Amino acid sequence: MRPMLCALPMQTTDRTDKTKMPESYAAMALVAPRTFEQQQRLLTPLAANEVWLRVRTTGVCGTDIAIYKGQYKVPLPRVLGHEFCAEVAHIGDQVPPSWLGRRVVAEINNACPEIKANTNCPSCGRLHPNHCAKRTVTGIIQADGAFAEYVRVPVATLHALPDEISDEIAIFVEPMAAALQTFVMRPLVNGERVAVLGAGRLGLLIIAAAQASGAQVIAITRSEIRKQWALNFGAEAVFSPHQDTEQDLRSVFHGHLADVVVEATGTPEGLAEATRLVRPRGTICLKTTSGVPSEIDLTKIVVDEIQLSGSRCGPFASAIHFLEQTRIPLQRFLTERFPLAQLASAMKAAKQPGKVLVYPILEK
Ligand SMILES: [Zn+2]
Ligand SMILES: [Zn+2]
Repeated sequence: MRPMLCALPMQTTDRTDKTKMPESYAAMALVAPRTFEQQQRLLTPLAANEVWLRVRTTGVCGTDIAIYKGQYKVPLPRVLGHEFCAEVAHIGDQVPPSWLGRRVVAEINNACPEIKANTNCPSCGRLHPNHCAKRTVTGIIQADGAFAEYVRVPVATLHALPDEISDEIAIFVEPMAAALQTFVMRPLVNGERVAVLGAGRLGLLIIAAAQASGAQVIAITRSEIRKQWALNFGAEAVFSPHQDTEQDLRSVFHGHLADVVVEATGTPEGLAEATRLVRPRGTICLKTTSGVPSEIDLTKIVVDEIQLSGSRCGPFASAIHFLEQTRIPLQRFLTERFPLAQLASAMKAAKQPGKVLVYPILEK
């Protein structure tokens, strides 16, 4: 559940010791595909339900890369960055003062109640704020993100971090929530056979989530380093896709096809492979957002009565709990760290396996 706003006495100005707040902050805005511009922006006055967060560190995600390259189109300029750890630096009039100084992560979908849209939104009415038609998405749609020294968000999106989760591990809360959402939409039964296509950053977290649910997990990826990571994250077997991937899969699953195939390749071709590996009446969970259409055999989907299950953003509270409990070696998965001014280099480095972090300092 998102925290509720407390009823507090009305005040006329933002509360925070303004002497501690700078007037402006540095941000790296994407002004055109593959072009960042370092900008100095004002810390503008907050709405009553908003906070300014001082960014501690930000992770580079596949969505950032797709927007950077111009494949995933959003109106520019935009400050990207939606996987971040920050501390509450400045609060609006109605925000409980106990938030000040807290180390937090923030959900990225800002729905009607948070952006004060005056609408009878069906999604918010159904308590599905992540599907709000009016929503802004921090770091993606109509709201600037955390490749900056400061980021402004509604307080209702915040989740305080326990001490057990470091700043760098906190980067994984947002993608871990997205991984868990796969199995919120299609719950797993203990002992089910799951094949994960693609062992990139999200695929690995999905492997960990499936394994923790008691599934038997196979990862399919070409990359040797990703195979090793997949084993570290809980896959029982790993192999490359090839002409006869189905045979390899059956040999691990004692002659069976997969009950669930998670398509997380990030490519339009992954879905066709998924239809070959799933059993009749099984489920294909879709996680790829390549922005490019996929070609698949719809007849096989109909004849084999295969379910397709899309999923996107997930439950932050569950993700924080999962990361607190988990033994997956996330710290070793953090491969490179860049200062904010070298964001373009961070984008290039993030094409490799591993997680790239950006720190809100301008130079090394
Ligand atoms: Zn992301
Ligand atoms: Zn709404």
